[in-house]
Amino acid sequence: MKKTTNKPALIPKMYCSLFGHDFQVSKKVTLHVKEYTCKHCKKELTTNSNGNLTELTPKFREINAILERIYNSRTERLKRKTITSSIC
Ligand SMILES: [Zn+2]
Repeated sequence: MKKTTNKPALIPKMYCSLFGHDFQVSKKVTLHVKEYTCKHCKKELTTNSNGNLTELTPKFREINAILERIYNSRTERLKRKTITSSIC
């Protein structure tokens, strides 16, 4: 009898509870805030305002989206400023 290669969804969670999560950066929000996803169970974490890792709840996703927007507009402005000052 052939073994099926399709693993049930429970296995990655079991793997993580046995060996621990394997988080990889899935998104850079700012220089200090990043979002992480576990390779095995897809659990998501993010850096909170204290610099600690916390579960990526919809609330944190919202906060990160705002942070990202602020961060991007600030770096955009900085870039433009540098270009202008190098021209002058
Ligand atoms: Zn995991």
